[in-house]
Amino acid sequence: MSFSFRPGLEQVAAYTPGKPAPVGADGLSAKLSSNENPNDPLPSVIDAIVKTFPTSVNRYPNMATPELSEALAARLGVDAQSLVFGSGSVEVASQLIHALAGPGDEVMYAWRSFEAYPILVRAAGAVPLEVPLDAELRHDLDAMADAITERTKLVFVCTPNNPTGATVTTNELDRFMQRVPKHVLVVIDEAYVHFDVDPKSPTGLDFFARYENVAVLHTFSKAYGLAGLRVGYAIARPDVAEALRKVALPFGVTDLAQSAAVASLAAEAELQVRIDTIVEERDRVYAALKSAGLPVFPSQANFVWLEAGESTEAVNEVFRARGVSVRAFAGSGLRISIGSAIENDAVIEVAGLAA
Ligand code: PMP
Repeated sequence: MSFSFRPGLEQVAAYTPGKPAPVGADGLSAKLSSNENPNDPLPSVIDAIVKTFPTSVNRYPNMATPELSEALAARLGVDAQSLVFGSGSVEVASQLIHALAGPGDEVMYAWRSFEAYPILVRAAGAVPLEVPLDAELRHDLDAMADAITERTKLVFVCTPNNPTGATVTTNELDRFMQRVPKHVLVVIDEAYVHFDVDPKSPTGLDFFARYENVAVLHTFSKAYGLAGLRVGYAIARPDVAEALRKVALPFGVTDLAQSAAVASLAAEAELQVRIDTIVEERDRVYAALKSAGLPVFPSQANFVWLEAGESTEAVNEVFRARGVSVRAFAGSGLRISIGSAIENDAVIEVAGLAA
């Protein structure tokens, strides 16, 4: 006997995470495949986790996220009711799709962008509308505005974009918003926003304040270094926030994650020093690869994109032999996360071999 699965499910590819890092000849093992933060948690964050631990294992977490909602609302200057949390921002992206797009509805995003978008859209039975990035691997927001139809419910704008690192500008996004019909919710996915130092870049919160049909996605996984604890959130208007809560998984954010996030918000000055270092390291890796003559793209995120076309697998093998795991996209290129200075040195060395 075999089951008959939901029509369309055959088109859904399961999400494949970055591979574990191999160990290179000199013992280096660098996982630079998932845009994680290379730093250990701050002592104050570990303290908060340890304090929460005894009471947070046999009991379900507090779904109301009281302290986290309050701390974050104060930090962002928004109403706590505007914040909806999930098990990573990927779960919140899923909530957005399930709340707004049913079978036959379209969800638009640039391509290539975050790999989870097509998976989540298809899994919801909705139709992905993928609009190619331009030659500089930037969002083509004019083409995206042109492609909106009456069936389009949701548009994801990922800035800085995963996996290319490119941003949209405030002016481009304003022009786009003026063309987007009010029935379409534009989700600005700012997973990497803390690494974006380009003054021309938009601020999701500004757009949220200025446009009724904007929501913003943030995560504690990247700049805040809590990827393993899974906590992300949307900033949304009350009607959208209420719809998201209806489709949210029960108990999606553990008390450990909540307490670590609260402690991280209290330690932003310390975290900023680390973010500044990652930004400096990113610029160093970019400059070195560029001066080696490699087709690397300017990035405002905690990774760089190296175009490699048909050589992608071969270049990936050179990285793996050195003990470096990066994210290879077959036939296209490699996304290399920024790690510690030693790991980044290895990237520069390997890329030199590939040049
Ligand atoms: N958005 C983008 C653009 C991402 O790259 C990622 C993680 N790779 C996420 C959202 C989700 O991150 P998380 O679920 O860890 O918050």
